[in-house]
Amino acid sequence: METPLRVNGDVRSAPEPSPSSSRDAAPGSELERHRRRTVRPPAADRPTRSTRTVRAQLTSDRSCSTRGYAAGVARGRGWYRGDCHVHSASSKGGELTPEQLAAAARALGLDFVAVTEHNTAETHDVWSSLAGDDLLVILGQEVVTHTGHWLALGIQPGQVVEGRYRVRDDVIDRHIDRVHEAGGLCVAAHPHAPYPSGDLMYPFELFDAVEVWNGQWTSDLPWNADNEAALAEWGRGLAADIHAGRWRPAMGNSDTHLEGQIGIPHTVVLAEEPSTEAVLAGIRAGRSWIAESAAVELSFWASAGERNAGIGERLTAGDGPVVVRADVRGVSSGVVSFHTDRGKAHRVSLPADGSGVVEWRTDAEESAFVRIEVRHPGGGMAALTNPTILADPTTDGCPGRASAV
Ligand SMILES: [Zn+2]
Repeated sequence: METPLRVNGDVRSAPEPSPSSSRDAAPGSELERHRRRTVRPPAADRPTRSTRTVRAQLTSDRSCSTRGYAAGVARGRGWYRGDCHVHSASSKGGELTPEQLAAAARALGLDFVAVTEHNTAETHDVWSSLAGDDLLVILGQEVVTHTGHWLALGIQPGQVVEGRYRVRDDVIDRHIDRVHEAGGLCVAAHPHAPYPSGDLMYPFELFDAVEVWNGQWTSDLPWNADNEAALAEWGRGLAADIHAGRWRPAMGNSDTHLEGQIGIPHTVVLAEEPSTEAVLAGIRAGRSWIAESAAVELSFWASAGERNAGIGERLTAGDGPVVVRADVRGVSSGVVSFHTDRGKAHRVSLPADGSGVVEWRTDAEESAFVRIEVRHPGGGMAALTNPTILADPTTDGCPGRASAV
């Protein structure tokens, strides 16, 4: 069946969805049904035929990596959905067991979760028995300091990261270094959280990524004023950071404490395989976007002639035109806005059925990067992407320029 799509205000027919273009999801899950309707971009981030062949050879062997518990690593390159900020009852305010959290993650079709208890590693072992071919568990911690919280993702089993300090103690660098030495990733958590000590008083520059979207704390809505503030702060610094050659990708996590919160929102990552190392590499590189829920699908890429680049990638555009396209599903009458180093540059509405391919034309002279936000008609966020860098020919080739940290 063909679906009408809107392109810069025009309606056209969508290509036939290809079930084989979707990555593995729990059979029969809502996410799997969504993926079967997904159209993928022509960029190199599509699963290859050989990748799908390898996936068909999946075994039930469960392997335990040093910094996470994972199996199914034969699944190969693809987009993986996961929630990297999850608490069990071992954290203050948490009410769920790891078993309940893992079951909820599987029911949603999430591919990975990171366990991030407050200043403890006591549930790392429990989670080891809950991972499987369909669910990667990344070991982590929410480091609760006296002046803000941060996430340590991909730490060693049982590793505890010190959190008893504040800005004026001048010691956070050494604790961040220890996480990096373990191969982990450090994320600025809920920078504008609306409760005492929730605000992050450390600069974003210390971290590898910024949690611009944190889940439902004091509201039933998934998108709140603290997220808007975090996104604005991150977005405002992006042009200078990309120009300086060091930018921090955005990510979104639920900060689950209660039933019904996991996956709202979550981060969708392009990774070489569903392993801790590969997923963290994808997050670190900014090859990711944030989804309000598993009901939202998004593909985003930029093209210059025959060349394509996806989210977090770099397009060598030369001085020719660049066409930026987004394929969005599951956001009824949503509004897609295109953001560059000049701010919000363009916006297009999606049809009432929530599915459409939107397009905007620019060039590398006009736009150093492009990222998109997809909002509901009321302004709440449904999805947002990290930027695609449009290499300016005058800066192209400069070592290290425009790389995510
Ligand atoms: Zn926190």
